Amino acid sequence: MGKALIIGAGGVASVVVHKCCQVPDVFEEICIASRTKSKCDALKEKLDGGRTKIQTAQVDADNVAELVALINEFKPDIVINVALPYQDLTIMDACLETRVDYMDTANYEPLDTAKFEYKWQWAYKEKFEEAGITALLGSGFDPGVTGVFSAYALKHYFDEIHSIDIVDANAGDHGYPFATNFNPEINIREITANGRYWENGEFVETQPLEMKRVYDLPEIGPKDVYLLYHEELESLAKNITGIKKIRFWMTFSEKYLTHLRVLENVGMTSIEPIDFEGQQIVPLQFLKAVLPDPASLGPRTKGKTNIGCIYQGIKDGEPKTYYVYNVCDHQECYREVGSQAISYTTGVPAMIGAMMILTGKWKKPGVFNIEEFDPDPFMEALNKHGLPWHEDFNPTLID
Ligand code: NDP
Repeated sequence: MGKALIIGAGGVASVVVHKCCQVPDVFEEICIASRTKSKCDALKEKLDGGRTKIQTAQVDADNVAELVALINEFKPDIVINVALPYQDLTIMDACLETRVDYMDTANYEPLDTAKFEYKWQWAYKEKFEEAGITALLGSGFDPGVTGVFSAYALKHYFDEIHSIDIVDANAGDHGYPFATNFNPEINIREITANGRYWENGEFVETQPLEMKRVYDLPEIGPKDVYLLYHEELESLAKNITGIKKIRFWMTFSEKYLTHLRVLENVGMTSIEPIDFEGQQIVPLQFLKAVLPDPASLGPRTKGKTNIGCIYQGIKDGEPKTYYVYNVCDHQECYREVGSQAISYTTGVPAMIGAMMILTGKWKKPGVFNIEEFDPDPFMEALNKHGLPWHEDFNPTLID
């Protein structure tokens, strides 16, 4: 059916490539292109031999001219951006110049500070309309599946949704007293940033980790969940009719928070270079060197993730509640694609988003967040491609 150019060769890209190769009727040819070509070649080597034809390329995705040259050479029907959020705009520019559809899993961030705002990408709407091409923003899990869940809830179960609580739980255990899934600096930023939620038409700020609840999650059990800001709040507030309140909750264990706080308090997470025995070192880089490599956690992580949304609203004048969630097992993911559930739950929806566009189900000119499309074919594909979902019409609510 079509050709996809996949940009990036990291954790999420690896899952996307595996999943595209499982659907060769849709992804007849793919090109994996990234900064470090050897990583693309390693993926090709693992997956070559199936019906999806694979090629690789080196590209600096910060450079529009390089991207345009690659697109003109490979002639993809879609560009799947699973590099980093810093590259979103250059890749969108290259898609505009070559008139090729675009999708990503995270909103654009300027290099200096993470803002988690869609304004830069929403500003491309008219240009994409004029070029007659589709941009699908945020087709991972959160953002991504959480938006599809919301569109599905609104389409099938509610006349108006009044509140959404997104609950993202990772009960994976890698067996180390402390390790981070990503760069520790990103983890620190997550827990030290102010929280924010949407209520009655505006965002309300909280102190970092100020709002804590305990939520009993299906297949995982009771966990501490903390209110954080997350990027899909901005688009859901705009796109879900009648919405009054949206909150995002994430699990952190007490042990994890204590380790991060101590490391921060003793200065180990600082990015300011210091002089150590005549040598300049950056504390955070040293910390990274002594912590387990995040890539090594995959094979040893046991347990499950559970990400879902709890809705409250009205249907036919009556109050109604609905909870829809996915549970993913780290080790099952590892067995299937060689990555644990964090990358898996992002990579599968990225493949499905691309499939929606390639098959014409979600093709319309402009720039769209995922909840602006018909959720039904995506929900069906989640069940088929590794992320089955479950429903509960009488869930425990979060106060
Ligand atoms: P990784 O760091 O594992 O991989 C990023 C890849 O992008 C690497 O291969 C890197 O190359 C490549 N890259 C970086 N800069 C450039 C550049 N200038 N040109 C070409 N390639 C470049 O990240 P992940 O796979 O974990 O994450 C990928 C994306 O998914 C991110 O945008 C992240 O925010 C998003 N995400 C979304 C989630 C969701 O639920 N919506 C959840 C998790 C992640 P190199 O190998 O040379 O470093």
